[in-house]
Amino acid sequence: MVNADAYELGTNRSCIRELFEYGLMRARVVGKDQVYDFSLGNPCIPAPEEVRQTIETLLRETDSLTLHGYTSAVGDYETRQAIADDLNRRFDAHAQAEDLFITCGAAPGLCAVLGGLSVPGGKVLALAPYFPEYKPFTLGAGLEFDDVKADVPAFQIPFDALKEALTPNVVALIVNSPNNPAGTVYTRQTLSRLSALLTEKAAEFGHPIYIISDEPYRELVYGDAKVSFIPKLYKDTIVCYSYSKSLSLPGERIGYVYVPSAASDSKAVYGAVAGAARKMGHVCAPSLWQKVIARCTALRPDLLSYDRNRRALYEGLTEMGYTVAKPEGAFYLFVKAPNGDSIAFSRLAKSHDLLIVPGEGFGCAGWVRLCYCVSYDTIMGSLPIFKKLMDTL
Ligand code: PLP
Repeated sequence: MVNADAYELGTNRSCIRELFEYGLMRARVVGKDQVYDFSLGNPCIPAPEEVRQTIETLLRETDSLTLHGYTSAVGDYETRQAIADDLNRRFDAHAQAEDLFITCGAAPGLCAVLGGLSVPGGKVLALAPYFPEYKPFTLGAGLEFDDVKADVPAFQIPFDALKEALTPNVVALIVNSPNNPAGTVYTRQTLSRLSALLTEKAAEFGHPIYIISDEPYRELVYGDAKVSFIPKLYKDTIVCYSYSKSLSLPGERIGYVYVPSAASDSKAVYGAVAGAARKMGHVCAPSLWQKVIARCTALRPDLLSYDRNRRALYEGLTEMGYTVAKPEGAFYLFVKAPNGDSIAFSRLAKSHDLLIVPGEGFGCAGWVRLCYCVSYDTIMGSLPIFKKLMDTL
């Protein structure tokens, strides 16, 4: 006998993984350069050279027991202090090492925060379109999950609908800006309005409503768009950060949770996050990577190639008549299926070896996601296929 929900989750591969595996198979048959795979958000710019140099220095200069031993469960003090210093320098955050919990990336950070906030009957909201894993993470933490559909095609916060959805059992709202899959970045003005709404509702309900700010794409922003640091605008914000995308280290599993000391019940929240992580088997984040991060907090990605891809794809598709959400951050493009049926459109594209993900899993049927962290050649090679599909439909 096994757990039915776990079996279902473990054996039903996500649509994204399904397409990615299909792309690998097709590449073996028709050649890699004939497959236009926009399925998976795997960074395609290398980690900064300083990361390699730091690893080499650490391997040379640090004794093996220190380098590879367990660290404190919350993370090395030096790493937490270095991250706090970085947040203070950049955002005047007033962060301290004691507010930080080092995780194996954003995903386990989100699970620990959700587990820490889980109370009987509690509910978490996400703004659709959203990262599909939010749902299993939330349900797995024993909380209800619901989404609030964004205003289309701007993909901004639908304030009236959100107000309706904020019922007394809502304990948190997940915010992801820059957004996967729409590439949206919320302005300071939008976030201030959100802060006012949540403050009003929290006062009405007599308990805090936390923002869980999922920020793996914080540094991936283009043009004039600015990513606001949400704890400065809404004190009850818990940040989940990751170096997966910002330093192109997704397989190394390193990130953090930041519980600002100004947040309501911050000590209790921090303790509950640590306890929830412990229940999930967290022992400590990889020791070597903690030490690398302690020396690399100031590094930022070189976004030139992502930006070039973003512009080529956005302009190319828009000129062909596609409706495209204007991407200001992350590395995704959200495109309206010309026939309104994202599953059929994705299937048709797949028959041309163009792999794009239907929006259903993101809570947004009728749209498809393209991940543009691919080579420029892939972008250029895909455009005639998009044109053909548009002409067919
Ligand atoms: N949140 C969002 C919005 C993501 O897109 C991803 C990964 O793609 C994650 C969280 C998980 O990030 P990590 O690899 O750091 O666990």
